[in-house]
Amino acid sequence: MFKKVLIANRGEIAVRVAQTLREMGIAVVAVYSAPDAAAPHVAIADEAHPLPGETAAETYLRADHIIEIAKESGADAIHPGYGFLSENAEFAAACGRNNITFIGPTPEVITAMGDKITAKKTMDDANVPTVPGWSGDPNAKIDVVQAEADRIGYPLLCKAAAGGGGKGMRLVENAKDLEASWEAAAREAGSAFGDARVFLEKYIEKPRHVEFQIFGDSHGNVVHLFERECSIQRRYQKIIEETPSPALDEDLRNRMGESAVAAGKALGYTNAGTVEFILAPDGQYYFLEVNTRLQVEHPVTEMTTHQDLVRAQVLVAAGEQLPFSQDDLKQTGHAIECRIYAEDPANNFVPATGRIHMYQPPQGTNIRTDSGVAAGSEITVYYDPMVAKLLAWAPTREQAIARMTYALDNFVILGPTTNIPYLRRILNHPEFVAGNTHTHFLADHAIDAAPTSPPPAAYIAAAVCKSTASTPTSAASHTINTESPWHTVGPWRVA
Ligand code: ADP
Repeated sequence: MFKKVLIANRGEIAVRVAQTLREMGIAVVAVYSAPDAAAPHVAIADEAHPLPGETAAETYLRADHIIEIAKESGADAIHPGYGFLSENAEFAAACGRNNITFIGPTPEVITAMGDKITAKKTMDDANVPTVPGWSGDPNAKIDVVQAEADRIGYPLLCKAAAGGGGKGMRLVENAKDLEASWEAAAREAGSAFGDARVFLEKYIEKPRHVEFQIFGDSHGNVVHLFERECSIQRRYQKIIEETPSPALDEDLRNRMGESAVAAGKALGYTNAGTVEFILAPDGQYYFLEVNTRLQVEHPVTEMTTHQDLVRAQVLVAAGEQLPFSQDDLKQTGHAIECRIYAEDPANNFVPATGRIHMYQPPQGTNIRTDSGVAAGSEITVYYDPMVAKLLAWAPTREQAIARMTYALDNFVILGPTTNIPYLRRILNHPEFVAGNTHTHFLADHAIDAAPTSPPPAAYIAAAVCKSTASTPTSAASHTINTESPWHTVGPWRVA
């Protein structure tokens, strides 16, 4: 087993990975940029090394610096977290060349799944359903593209082979818009990814995003750990995730799970991965892509399967067998995750910066907070504005929504504005409560992003007293269906 592991990341995921490593008796090496010198992921590590600079490109994306630090500190392995270098095949290969284990799949699998055209072809060959489309040809004349589009039918999507984060994707409603969209997608893909290849895909109306957690080891075992529904998205970014999906019955879950495992087996998949599908309103599901890393929303799987996915990643990377078989894996209850962002929903979701003066995550049975910040942390412009993930588990979905509402109401962040009130409104929207979610949910339902009116100072003072009072209060009576003062203190500064 590894003695020392470097975590090539920051924020909540670096803290979360460090917790498991330390539990396993493995020493933790942190790296940090100048703005992160006092960050929680540095404090939790056994040793921490600076990465000169401030921006992601100068620091957490510097594969050469990170590998150098791993070698100097004597780390046996690197955990990449998500984002940054986690899906960079060249980084994974460089780790191998330096005798450092990359905790993730092989560079070959990362490369193959980074190309959406190759990924779709691999899935077609493995009989995993893919969205009808055309794999494209960079030299094709526009009349060939037109003919293929007519065959697929409108509406359709022009998608970049190297795409990610929704970039290089264009919706085409009818034939007259095809040429301009095809060219625009290719231009955008060329400048964003240095790869202008574009392909066509039928546009599935109002789908759900349903993904399956898979895990493989180097002994040929591949299993799935059920689904996560991530349909609540804003600009293709997930903000609320849950499991089980309200849309899956036992039969569909089994079929999709089998497809996910077939995808993993076709790839010879090792370590943690996520097979993303879209699920059409008619119940048909289609492969979208494989994310070759630990996913932001992995804790909902942990809370319902009672497995530690980071521990499994470490064991598998060290050459051991998976710590669970498919038959061992059972899901109980319901878990929801809300991504807490320092941003202002009322002001077009602009990222909010500044010092967090008070930071008090909610306490309670089956409430989990994965935080990347603490009181005194500075939210800067340099990185993603997600400050924490809030999770709630309960025996049923209805109870999990109630528990999450309570948890949001009792999450104290004084300083930068957050999306907590916005999350609360989504969660309690009748259509969300009914389980009627799809990827256009936020656009269609126009959830009110406006802040409630600022609270009088006395109200804030009362709330501070309440939060520090030792006598427990009746949670249900005053938190459910009421707006806590904490929802509106965002724009206020104590200093
Ligand atoms: P990226 O890698 O850029 O995130 P994906 O292929 O994963 O691109 O798609 C991102 C999101 O776009 C999906 O979660 C879904 O909401 C939407 N999407 C992608 N393909 C389709 C499709 N064929 N029909 C409808 N929606 C789609």
